[in-house]
Amino acid sequence: MKKLHCAKDPLMIGHLRNVLALYGIRCVTKNLDLATAAGELPPIDCWPELWVEEDQLARAKSILKKTMAPLESVKKPWGCIGCGEEIEGQFSECWNCGKSRSHGPGRRGIVISLAEFLRNR
Ligand SMILES: [Zn+2]
Repeated sequence: MKKLHCAKDPLMIGHLRNVLALYGIRCVTKNLDLATAAGELPPIDCWPELWVEEDQLARAKSILKKTMAPLESVKKPWGCIGCGEEIEGQFSECWNCGKSRSHGPGRRGIVISLAEFLRNR
């Protein structure tokens, strides 16, 4: 088995595992329970991991890339609805007026991406 991906959000790993399963790629998750059990963000070596068979790694990687693409948009700059300032994507609040980003990268976003992904398949 080879490690395909790791993410601090166990939901993300679960989502990717489901997507790969749709393509018939069997994968194994590690540290999933560990991360869920921890009340705070686990250190990176405890992050949930996704492992696949070595002969499926290349295919799994390309599927992963396609799946992750919509999620990359959360890194794009966003316009503050309070003052119109352009804020870098990694910040969730406006540095200028303190307003929160209206549509943050939440768990809802992942669910929507999965629906979109299935539709575009
Ligand atoms: Zn603002």
